Amino acid sequence: MAVTERPSHFLENIVESDLAEGRTDQLVTRFPPEPNGYLHIGHAKSICLNFGLAERFGGKCNLRFDDTNPEKESDEFVAAIKKDIEWLGFEWAGEPHFASDYFEQLYQWAQHLVKAGKAYVCELSADEAREYRGTLTEPGKNSPWRDRSVEENLQLLEKMRSGEVAEGKATLRAKIDMAHGNMNMRDPVLYRIRHVTHHQQGDEWKIYPSYDFAHGQGDAIEGVTHSICTLEFQDHRPLYDWFIENLPVPARPRQYEFARLELNYTVTSKRKLKQLVDSGVVDGWDDPRMPTISGMRRRGYTPAAIRNLCEMVGITKANSVVDVGMLEYALRDDLDKNAPRAMVVLNPLKLVLTNYDGNESLRSPNHPVKEEMGERQLSFSRELWIEAEDFREEANKKYKRLVLGKRVRLRNAYVIEAESLEKDDQGNITQVNARVIAGTLGENPEDGIKPKGVIHWVDAATAADCEAKLYEDRLFSVEAPGAGGSDFMQQLNPVTCTSLQGAKAEASLANAASDVTWQFERTGYFTRDSASPGLVFNRTIGLRDTQGKSQA
Ligand code: ATP
Ligand code: MG
Repeated sequence: MAVTERPSHFLENIVESDLAEGRTDQLVTRFPPEPNGYLHIGHAKSICLNFGLAERFGGKCNLRFDDTNPEKESDEFVAAIKKDIEWLGFEWAGEPHFASDYFEQLYQWAQHLVKAGKAYVCELSADEAREYRGTLTEPGKNSPWRDRSVEENLQLLEKMRSGEVAEGKATLRAKIDMAHGNMNMRDPVLYRIRHVTHHQQGDEWKIYPSYDFAHGQGDAIEGVTHSICTLEFQDHRPLYDWFIENLPVPARPRQYEFARLELNYTVTSKRKLKQLVDSGVVDGWDDPRMPTISGMRRRGYTPAAIRNLCEMVGITKANSVVDVGMLEYALRDDLDKNAPRAMVVLNPLKLVLTNYDGNESLRSPNHPVKEEMGERQLSFSRELWIEAEDFREEANKKYKRLVLGKRVRLRNAYVIEAESLEKDDQGNITQVNARVIAGTLGENPEDGIKPKGVIHWVDAATAADCEAKLYEDRLFSVEAPGAGGSDFMQQLNPVTCTSLQGAKAEASLANAASDVTWQFERTGYFTRDSASPGLVFNRTIGLRDTQGKSQA
């Protein structure tokens, strides 16, 4: 990735001094998704941060699936997460890791704590445990099971593991301090009983470690030096450190926190995104309106646009909401510079060139300024498609397109002059007849009558029929979906997609790939929909920001 000129952020400063002062030999970070859903734009920030630090400081970044909640996890999510990270342009060190790879080691460490008198099997019910826990203002009470003998604890833990204890009947808890000011330190749960199948471990385990017990120890096993998570884990840090101090772990990772990425008009919570998917209001995790990485990919977002957004947002310790316009800016900026150009007529009107019988192949650059992107051949013949809105019988001077009796330039082709038109019984214009002004390929008309505008077109003889899907609105109609106890499911925009079935694409797009985003001249940025069998294009975004203005 390009070295940026911006000042370093606080985590870069920390890593830099740890390396300079010898506290760290080689930086090791990790990205630790739970495979219980698809990644969203918020995750991209964590990915760019963790992988970006490793790249910048010559370290490595592991991919670790934090798979300690078997009910919600699956291999489908594992595969999707890997694909998204690769697509964003990052490479994890070695093979992916799984928290579940460490279940046996974690179990031994749990026994270690029991033997040291620092963990016990508790038989309080979930309700009782909540009651005993106290509140932010009141200390908790010790569990009546807190002082069992080491022997008894070890035996019970073994029974929990072998499936002899029913779900909900017991937990293994750390023995810390029920009066601790930090609730996370009030004898937190290390293991709970779940008689369910695990996507990696099958039916091997009847008990599963908590996030807190698994995470830091996984970091230590992998030699992670800087374990970076979002701010809500700040209050878990004392517990993270407690485990590291009280266990014979092979390394001493440290936890650091940063602010999550939140965007207005967007939800960045897997739980909420899952609800959209499960209720069927969107067409799966990769629906082009979803703020998931897979949805954005299908919509035509580029990895560079997403990475640039993360770079623009920066890394701080203050939570804030970023305007989704910034993401759109990053997208347009990248596409304007890098998207190949093509011509597609969305609402076709037939144009017949009365004085032209030829059949030419016209050269057209793929990008207006990037010559290295090459050029392509455009076929040109007597019948063309133009946009219905690019022709008017009469118009005032502001209208710079084709008007009866007037001239316009066809993009990358000739100047033409409209001579007559045809209408159906309802008075709709069905055809425009025009003449080609000779000698105007790349030249102005010799008679000095210059056209005022340029319109795009497609040769009818070779056009590819296609469908264009225009997402007119954002998925949500309100800035902060779900805020103040409101129901985000009730805040969806009603109609968000207009489908234009009869669009005509230039022939070069007939076998378009779905991993390219084009600028369709004058109509927007589009990519081929990867999930549709036919030639279907999703509009990624319009050429200009028209939110809140009338759409031209
Ligand atoms: P969600 O709330 O959407 O379920 P999560 O934190 O539970 O997210 P994980 O799979 O645990 O999802 O997240 C993997 C990593 O991505 C974690 O380190 C987490 O801190 C980070 N992450 C998740 N959401 C965001 C966000 N909005 N901004 C930055 N980082 C995030
Ligand atoms: Mg999580």
